Amino acid sequence: MTPTRPARAELVVDLAAIRHNVRRLREIVGPDVAMMTVVKADGYGHGMAEVARAAREAGADWLGVATLDEALALRAAGDRGRLLCWLAIPGEDYAAAVAGDIDVAAYSVAQLEEVADAGHARVHLKVDTGLMRGGAARSDWPDFFAAASDLVRQGRLTVAGLWSHLVAADVPEHPANDSQEAEFREAIALASSAGLRPEVRHLANSAAAVLRPSVHFDLVRCGIAAYGLDPAPGVTSDLDLRPAMTARAAFVLTKAVRAGAGVSYGHTWIAEHDTTLGLVPVGYGEGIPRAAGNLASVWASGARRPIRGRVCMDQFLVDLDGELPPPGTDVVLFGPGDGGEPTAQDWADALDTITYEIVTRLGGRLTRRHVDPEA
Ligand SMILES: *Cc1c(COP(=O)(O)O)cnc(C)c1O
Repeated sequence: MTPTRPARAELVVDLAAIRHNVRRLREIVGPDVAMMTVVKADGYGHGMAEVARAAREAGADWLGVATLDEALALRAAGDRGRLLCWLAIPGEDYAAAVAGDIDVAAYSVAQLEEVADAGHARVHLKVDTGLMRGGAARSDWPDFFAAASDLVRQGRLTVAGLWSHLVAADVPEHPANDSQEAEFREAIALASSAGLRPEVRHLANSAAAVLRPSVHFDLVRCGIAAYGLDPAPGVTSDLDLRPAMTARAAFVLTKAVRAGAGVSYGHTWIAEHDTTLGLVPVGYGEGIPRAAGNLASVWASGARRPIRGRVCMDQFLVDLDGELPPPGTDVVLFGPGDGGEPTAQDWADALDTITYEIVTRLGGRLTRRHVDPEA
């Protein structure tokens, strides 16, 4: 047997947790709404192909990604179900989308024509209801729907969907929720008078899937909640989601330092009393935010251990408060939180960001390992 080298630092992704979360979302939205699991950006850092398989096993009717390359990678990995990508660039290879039976989005009349020139595609018409990001502006809806209707009549494309995206679904009292829902209903009516019969109308992300049933329409697009992370922290009641990602490493060195010792670049932290430090071999080269210096904590030897000083490219230090666990001792940066370890939410709170950014940015030299406790 070849001796296995210990992982320097890794992401452990629990596929049973992904399945559990997709099933929970299904329970929350009910049986009549189609469920899309969003697996863009390498499955929010969890591994796109593996997450996609787990989501399909748990009943995801659709997968959603941003780019056509992501969609093609899912097809190459063997996925055969309904699949939508929504962020094309000018000159996109729509013929590849048609050949791969991949649904695409259109934001403008020009894009509709570009898509139709490439073959008979399944298109989701995107209307901007207030985010001011992608999608046809309100004033362009009549022309947009008329152009789509003409192309349908000519047999050059199928309108598979009509959709938009919310500004503040995680803030239920935000006025944009009401105004966007009203505008989306107008778009549905206008599209209908233009003779369009989209198969699915969709507006909700995870937060709206959980908090606003009036915008479920035919399909919900759930990303963050499928990974077990709360789509609206502080607003939702217990959703019974399980965080799927654990980020872990092992100390390469532990040592004592004297009171007055400055720690890491710039000496932004000075030991007030004698203590001990543990060296963790990951840094901003792995996507650990440099801003986490002196702010976030990890779990090691049965306690939360605060990061001391700056996070470097390859490493950072934590305060072990006098203990000296041996090198090789496990360090959990974050995980589900069951064992006392910080969660991705704790990191997001400490850094004044969102869990989406914490889990998606990790990579670099981290390896990823998928586990399936139910397999
Ligand atoms: C990323 C994304 C989603 C998923 O949002 P979550 O908040 O992660 O559920 C849904 N729709 C669109 C258009 C997106 O870009």
